[in-house]
Amino acid sequence: MQHEIIKVAKFGGSSLASAEQFEKAGAIVKADASRRYVVPSAPGKRDKSDFKVTDMLYECYNSVMEGRDLSVPFGKIIERYSGIVEGLGLKLSLKDEFDSIRSAMLHRAGRDYVASRGEYLNAKILAEYLEFDFIDASEVIFFSDNGNFDSDKTNEILSAVLRRHKTAVIPGFYGSMPNGTIKTFSRGGSDITGSIVARAAQADLYENWTDVDGFLMADPRIVPDPKRIDTITYRELRELSYMGATVLHEDAIFPVRFAGIPINIRNTNAPESNGTMIVSHAPSDNTGAITGIAGHKGFSVITIEKDMMNAELGFGRRVLEVLEKHGISFEHLPSGIDTMSVIVSTVSLSENRDRIINDICAAVDPESVSVEDGIALIAVVGRNMVKAKGTAAKVFNAITRVGTNIRMIDQGSCEFNIIIGVEEHDFERSMRAIYEEFMPD
Ligand code: ADP
Ligand code: ASP
Ligand code: MG
Repeated sequence: MQHEIIKVAKFGGSSLASAEQFEKAGAIVKADASRRYVVPSAPGKRDKSDFKVTDMLYECYNSVMEGRDLSVPFGKIIERYSGIVEGLGLKLSLKDEFDSIRSAMLHRAGRDYVASRGEYLNAKILAEYLEFDFIDASEVIFFSDNGNFDSDKTNEILSAVLRRHKTAVIPGFYGSMPNGTIKTFSRGGSDITGSIVARAAQADLYENWTDVDGFLMADPRIVPDPKRIDTITYRELRELSYMGATVLHEDAIFPVRFAGIPINIRNTNAPESNGTMIVSHAPSDNTGAITGIAGHKGFSVITIEKDMMNAELGFGRRVLEVLEKHGISFEHLPSGIDTMSVIVSTVSLSENRDRIINDICAAVDPESVSVEDGIALIAVVGRNMVKAKGTAAKVFNAITRVGTNIRMIDQGSCEFNIIIGVEEHDFERSMRAIYEEFMPD
């Protein structure tokens, strides 16, 4: 029997922000009968000054919790969806849905439940528009009691359910806990749902439709018109997305990587472009020393100094145990003979910062401990970097050219990334300078 091709298509918020965008997404799905399972996000921004429905829902939740009137924020949400339903000329009435969501909100439904309704309602509309079945994510995507995604249970139940539906729409972003309550993934999590559905459907391809031509070499909001990456490996992508290339959630690769399913990032507004293919292995080639750069602000450096630190067994472990006790994970650990620096996100220190410093003092009795905020990290990533000579020198050149001071450097031991730390006010121009240094002609 001939193998039937199956594709899973996930559409992001901007791809489904209005009736006009729904029409584009609809045309894409209908253009290829193998696009059998579709995962929508909640409606995103229609233009720069607009609001994402997910943010509007969090606002509704806050209104109820703070005793403010729900009718204004919820009214705006009803308006968004009604505009889409009318614009598409659908007969669908969402009145009962709106009533039951409003009532749940007033009865203090959980924050995740409230946020998940953005995807739920959009999926209802999309299913009606495409004439596909609707499968509620709460019945097929599961979390364990500890709040982690339960991949075994999900895969078993979801694949069985998908087999019963030739075509279906499954809302992104959420699933259910063992007690039936709704839980969402972290922000941008519809990308993860798409990947989970692709794995359960044993799809040949996971298409992720968004508002850019693919994964670009740098964030287009910082570097003007960056070149598109044609092929990128899961590892490179995870490194870049974790470091700030938010086009795809950094956890979205796990389910498909497990199953060896490639991801194709495509532009809903320019479907003729091939986009970016994300694969497990790509040959290192000569198309340029680096694959991409990414970065973000909001880091702090904890610097600990102590003479003869190098000879003190267990020093690093004791410092890290303090962080562990406070629930903080570290990003990097650049160290010298008598100094150790730990880079952490500034938010994670929050109001515990004095206690953390005291605990470090008690644990290792250092000469000094200091914390400096306002650090941005930039990752330069590429599978070709192992072979290419002088990548680090080029990064330094670029940074020196714009007169920026490098506060930290860390080269991954597998030699496919270099991370540098700069002061936040130097972040954007450092990104642009590094991009220009490596920009392919
Ligand atoms: P969606 O709503 O479709 O999930 P997102 O807003 O989550 O879309 O992601 C797409 C956005 O990611 C782009 O509009 C772009 O501004 C941003 N972005 C950041 N870094 C990159 C990058 N390296 N390549 C492409 N887009 C990037
Ligand atoms: N709507 C959710 C968010 O805004 C999930 C997503 O878009 O992927 O984060
Ligand atoms: Mg996204």
